[in-house]
Amino acid sequence: MTRITRREFMSAAAATAAAVPLWPRLGRAATEPAGAPLPLVRPFDLGRVRLRPGPFFDATQIARRHLQGLDPDRLLHMFRVTAGLPSNAEPLGGWEAPDNELRGHYTGGHYLSACAIMGASQDDAALRTRGLRMVDALAECQRAHGNGYLSAFPEEFFDRLRDGKNVWAPFYTMHKIMAGLLDTYMLSGYAPALDVLRGMAQWTRGWTGPLGDEAMARVLEREYGGMNEVLYNLSAATNTHWYASLAHRFDHERIFAPLAEGRDELKGLHVNTTIPKIIGAARRYELTGEPRYHDVASYFWHEVTGRRAYCTGGTSNGEGWQAEPGVLSTQLSGYTQECCTTYNMLKLTRHVFTWTADPRCADFYERALFNGILGTQHPADGMTLYYVPLASGYWKLFGQPLQSFWCCNGTGLESFSKFGDSIYFQDDAGLYVNLFIASELDWPERGMRVVQDTRFPEEGRTQLVMRCARPTRLALRLRVPYWTAPGGSVSLNGRTLEAFAAPSSYLVLDRTWRDGDRVELTLPMRLHIHPMPDDPTIQAVMYGPLVLVGRLGTEGLTPDILRAEPTKPRTVPEYKGEPVPAPAFASRGDDPSAWIHPVPGRALEFRTAGQTRDVTLVPFYTLIDERYATYWKVTPAAG
Ligand SMILES: [Zn+2]
Repeated sequence: MTRITRREFMSAAAATAAAVPLWPRLGRAATEPAGAPLPLVRPFDLGRVRLRPGPFFDATQIARRHLQGLDPDRLLHMFRVTAGLPSNAEPLGGWEAPDNELRGHYTGGHYLSACAIMGASQDDAALRTRGLRMVDALAECQRAHGNGYLSAFPEEFFDRLRDGKNVWAPFYTMHKIMAGLLDTYMLSGYAPALDVLRGMAQWTRGWTGPLGDEAMARVLEREYGGMNEVLYNLSAATNTHWYASLAHRFDHERIFAPLAEGRDELKGLHVNTTIPKIIGAARRYELTGEPRYHDVASYFWHEVTGRRAYCTGGTSNGEGWQAEPGVLSTQLSGYTQECCTTYNMLKLTRHVFTWTADPRCADFYERALFNGILGTQHPADGMTLYYVPLASGYWKLFGQPLQSFWCCNGTGLESFSKFGDSIYFQDDAGLYVNLFIASELDWPERGMRVVQDTRFPEEGRTQLVMRCARPTRLALRLRVPYWTAPGGSVSLNGRTLEAFAAPSSYLVLDRTWRDGDRVELTLPMRLHIHPMPDDPTIQAVMYGPLVLVGRLGTEGLTPDILRAEPTKPRTVPEYKGEPVPAPAFASRGDDPSAWIHPVPGRALEFRTAGQTRDVTLVPFYTLIDERYATYWKVTPAAG
């Protein structure tokens, strides 16, 4: 089966969406129905959280250099050509090549989003300004079209979509551009970005207007990213109702109906086509309070994270859900968990968390972030993965600078720009600490800064120091993760407290905080098994939230094989070498520490003992340019 065939079958491409704040900044927008629910908890603006040195900080800096290294004139080339404006820049390759039907998704979409996100999260004025100048250039292209249209391909693609002719995914690409513009407006406050976006929404209204519901339903069968989501976001940002009405036209009833009734009919669907639609449903609920859309998003989230996710938190195989829920052991391949799907599930998780403050959301977020995002970037040049292979013996197949521009390179760029966005949340009573990532939170409304120092996950502990202008009462809610082993503790200013909390709950310290108060949280990590739900003899080994992968060597991995070929129009990367087999293991009992031991002096490194062939295990995120295995056949040892 060729990749082209699979991708065609799965309806092509993939998706992402804006990283705009989940809720309108000033709470409920004036025009929203009175039924719009208020969130239980709220995120902090990106600019309030600064990363401190650690693996997430390092990865952000690599992404930043990657962003800085791209030439805006090359990024804009096909937008200008399409608008009939002069451009003599050298065209890009991969999915941004002049003959690729997805062109513009990265250059005018994800890139804009990432510049705005990096501008806010890193206070990077140069990248923020670069994004604004890109918007100016895109506005010029839009003016040349004269009807609100803006794209790096001609309007004729949309004619083909309407007429049922062959075309890749025009609204998918349009969504990325609209999301990039909205991010630029929301995060950089740049009004011209909103003007361009309003023009695109107007064009979209004109295009969809003549289509009856039946014709529109046919259009929705072609991947369209998060068109509903970005239009709901635009409606909330501008208090303009007709954007929400237009968003309704992109709500995919065929997908929503079974989910609203609690039925998993996801088998056969293209995963990353589906998740953004559900994020749109989540936004509809947030704006209108219609419980049906809450049910769609909530049921979907529980189903995918509970019954369709691997040990890594990832989902999908060959970009689809190809099996019944709970059947994963047959789904391991070189093409599992498309990275865009992890990006989008993390987005959806943030929504569900703000409705529920459910620590299971944060548990999932951590697992997917550490095992499905961190470690998908090459440290040398910031190129990212398309798939995370979970069949044994493969390697991380990275893209090529200027020759890939896959969907996942785009969402990856955003993911690596916004690590600060889900570490902390707030409510009226206090602060939630969801992730153990070295960082500093600035909270001027409370007259506070919170400094988190940690070497997690190299150490199972973190420290928070409160900096308060004056004594301040608040409930500090520390997540005690699902993986916490016995022996966890918390101390305040060096004194161990009696209190602790069960795994997968919050430990609440509700008191008046004084400047310099120091909280230390100790969370013992231990080895444990993550078995396949449908075959418990196929197991992954985890330590805390980390998936440990077995090192299988570099045999045959030439530089040529480690990087994907430049992708042709409408193709996805393919491996140029064969995987190698992984050994099977024999275990005594359920506790893997009986046969897997830490390697002395090596943080987070382990080695099997007493096996026919012993293997060294390291966290997924640390392994680069080497073959690995994630799942193993493990059977009880004889005797
Ligand atoms: Zn993708």
